[in-house]
Amino acid sequence: MDVIAEKVAAAKLWLISQPPSSMPRPDSPRALAYLATAVYALRTVPSSDIATIRADQYWRLYVNPLWVGAISVPELGRELAHIVWHLLMDHAGRAAAMGVDAATSEQWHQACDLTVSETLVGEEASPVSVEDRSRQVRTDNPSLGRGRSAEDYFAILSRLPAWGGQQATGPLANNKDCGSACDGMPRASDLPPDSEVGRLDRIQAEQVREQVAIDYREAAKSRGDSPGEAQRWAKHITEPTIRWEPLLARAVRRGVAWASGRVERTWSRPSRRQSVQPEVLHPGWRRPLPGIAMVVDTSVSIDDELLGKAMGEVEGALRGLGVADPQVTVLACDASVGAVTAVRKATDATLVGGGGTDMRVGIAAASTLRPRPDLIVVLTDGYTPWPELPPPGSAVIAAILGRPGATLPETPPWVARVECVLR
Ligand SMILES: [Zn+2]
Repeated sequence: MDVIAEKVAAAKLWLISQPPSSMPRPDSPRALAYLATAVYALRTVPSSDIATIRADQYWRLYVNPLWVGAISVPELGRELAHIVWHLLMDHAGRAAAMGVDAATSEQWHQACDLTVSETLVGEEASPVSVEDRSRQVRTDNPSLGRGRSAEDYFAILSRLPAWGGQQATGPLANNKDCGSACDGMPRASDLPPDSEVGRLDRIQAEQVREQVAIDYREAAKSRGDSPGEAQRWAKHITEPTIRWEPLLARAVRRGVAWASGRVERTWSRPSRRQSVQPEVLHPGWRRPLPGIAMVVDTSVSIDDELLGKAMGEVEGALRGLGVADPQVTVLACDASVGAVTAVRKATDATLVGGGGTDMRVGIAAASTLRPRPDLIVVLTDGYTPWPELPPPGSAVIAAILGRPGATLPETPPWVARVECVLR
């Protein structure tokens, strides 16, 4: 075995045989033994093109031979623990879903490092450099909180105006770069994606994640962990998710029922025309069908397939109510309403967009439609500001489209919320 392989092997062994740091009992499992399947799935590729250590999204671990030679075994072990959590949590896939690019990769990396750091800090298995940086990020952004998902941290970090300009740091200039394992953007030093050398394919990676999730939950039982990203991750992988489709359909049916009831009640109220001619009695206007508006978030972070499914589900629910010919207005919305399209079938709507997200604009546009829609269904990733108050006269359903394992953003109390997660 060459020197590098030997050192990496020693670091893996050190990592998985770490004694538990808090309240050790003779029968306590080794603190990070749950990472065994994951760290042994990593394939080492010596590379002088990088300064320290990095991984790509195919579980290939690139290490600089000189750096490895100089670092201690425990330090290398902590680096492995950090990097392997990026891979377990599929930060590369989630970066793509969030539309992370060169301009925002630094904030994404900080966000992911915060979650990994929270996962490892109790075991004193986080690299010192990562801890220092994460502490700095927290000091600079006191509103970050704890226990959030990478997506949540990213949303907060990337919206802060301070990141707009003045800080003259290049991408990842002051940060350790954990590689495409974190952001999915291939580096020049990576082996080509189709190179079979040490590559884990998607199915193999899923198998590793599944085994580690089982081991993690087992280990967490005896530790009494506080909830956090790693626990949500393990729960998501080991427990089948509740199907969201029936929940969305039910919300639509309820919304329509509410709207129908409300429309009928207008018989007992003076209509607008009546107030102009008080001596003439006009019945309140009663619509045969409830008006529906769909406000569709077209920002890049929305998965097309998931969006299609969610829209299809809303349509199906309307058809199921015996609404033979639903007049659904679909509004495509990113930072501004890109297109307002009235279509017979929701899935026929042309969606344009791809920028930031502000669903307030879409909801406002929907509520100015005439006749005013009784029900507004908002399909969004949830990373958007919401109006403070509900639009008058319309019930609002928010279908929050998310990635597995992520905590989805909060919604105001006046919306009926349904979490729709891609499986
Ligand atoms: Zn990292």
